[in-house]
Amino acid sequence: MKNGFLLLLFISMFSTAQLPSAHQQDLYKIIDEVSADRIENDVKKLAGFGTRNTFSDTVSNTRGIGAARRWIKAEFDKISADCGGCLEVFYQKDLVTTDMGNRVPKDAYVVNVVAIQRGTTNPNDMVMMSGDIDSRASDTMDFTTDAPGANDNASGMAGTIEAARVLSKRKFKNSIVYVGLSGEEQGLFGGKGLADYAKKKEWNVLGFLNNDMIGNIKGVDGVIDNREFRIFSEPTDPTETERQRNGRRFYGGEVDGISRQLARYIHKSVKTYMPEMKPMMVYRLDRFGRGGHHRPFADLGFPGIRIMEAHENYTQQHQDIRTENGVNYGDVVEHVNFPYARKLTAVNAINLAQLAWAPIRPQNVKIGGIVEANVRLKWDPVKDAVGYKIYWRDTTSPTWDHSRYVGDVNEYTLNEIVIDNSFFGVVAVGKDGIESMVSFPSGVFR
Ligand SMILES: [Zn+2]
Repeated sequence: MKNGFLLLLFISMFSTAQLPSAHQQDLYKIIDEVSADRIENDVKKLAGFGTRNTFSDTVSNTRGIGAARRWIKAEFDKISADCGGCLEVFYQKDLVTTDMGNRVPKDAYVVNVVAIQRGTTNPNDMVMMSGDIDSRASDTMDFTTDAPGANDNASGMAGTIEAARVLSKRKFKNSIVYVGLSGEEQGLFGGKGLADYAKKKEWNVLGFLNNDMIGNIKGVDGVIDNREFRIFSEPTDPTETERQRNGRRFYGGEVDGISRQLARYIHKSVKTYMPEMKPMMVYRLDRFGRGGHHRPFADLGFPGIRIMEAHENYTQQHQDIRTENGVNYGDVVEHVNFPYARKLTAVNAINLAQLAWAPIRPQNVKIGGIVEANVRLKWDPVKDAVGYKIYWRDTTSPTWDHSRYVGDVNEYTLNEIVIDNSFFGVVAVGKDGIESMVSFPSGVFR
């Protein structure tokens, strides 16, 4: 009888361990709830404001960036009303003047729309998703010509609003911040303004997911692909000190900055929960010589990456609408693939959810093992963590390929593994099995 009871207990423990947790199962529901139709409506609405150039009309209710940002704020307010006021919605703005760059045609306020879904226990730990409000015609300085910016970047803006619709139905312990940024096309002004604001407010930004062009599947290279997308990330932290830079020569970290860890996190969760997709990590800050709104966040030491389509079409971005030599130029609604924008929005949503459920990544991770057959790691305890996992990989591998759950400890020795031939990192695991980003060691010990 007693043995039977123990056996049953053992079986039930064993079988619970095999099941995905409630949060893990909910990630599939989140993917399913993202709607291509709602994204289509919102892209059409945004494109319908004629131009959203940062310096365009702010008075009209039907044309220009003023009308666009008021509509975006009203959408966030509506979403908030549907979840019992779960979003704090506000404008964040900074004055930009003509002496601030040669692409500023006149002094104007660059106005961002911010919606914060406050975390239940860690309201100051923020995971952020952005799209852009603004658009441009062939000439950046031209703020009157039609510039529907359907893909660049109504797609990212619509995706951000849709992620808020889906995730606002749920509770998270960390905060999620949904933002529409402006002034992108003239010098990343909106991102800079909000990154400064976040720094001033002492937000702990866990990750910044910049979505810029998530709706084009027909590339200028002739490739048509509705599964592949890019995750751009910088190799090392731009805020590193000379001492840290020098340390990399001896202890590694050349491709392990915090933004790169965020890119790997997204890559892994897509492979796990959306295996039909093909995430392509690109080992650079952004496209060759080009910019995006994750950069000002990375500049201040926050993990920031860019999510975007894999195949761009240059005749359909930053172009006046026209036909020339049989080619239709212009960033119009007809070129946006809404099922694809839906998928990339879902990519964001499952990563926002996981980072908002997970403990924060371990701090003060130290590594040792010089001239030993073992690798030793230690780290500070993380609030809400039930255990920790050590990850490692070959030095040439882009992804964390090996792992070991080590339980609720703050130091651990991996026996019979030589430190020289792999890179190592540590994650904190929450009670529902959701993991933080990997922390790469920031120091060594003997
Ligand atoms: Zn652009």
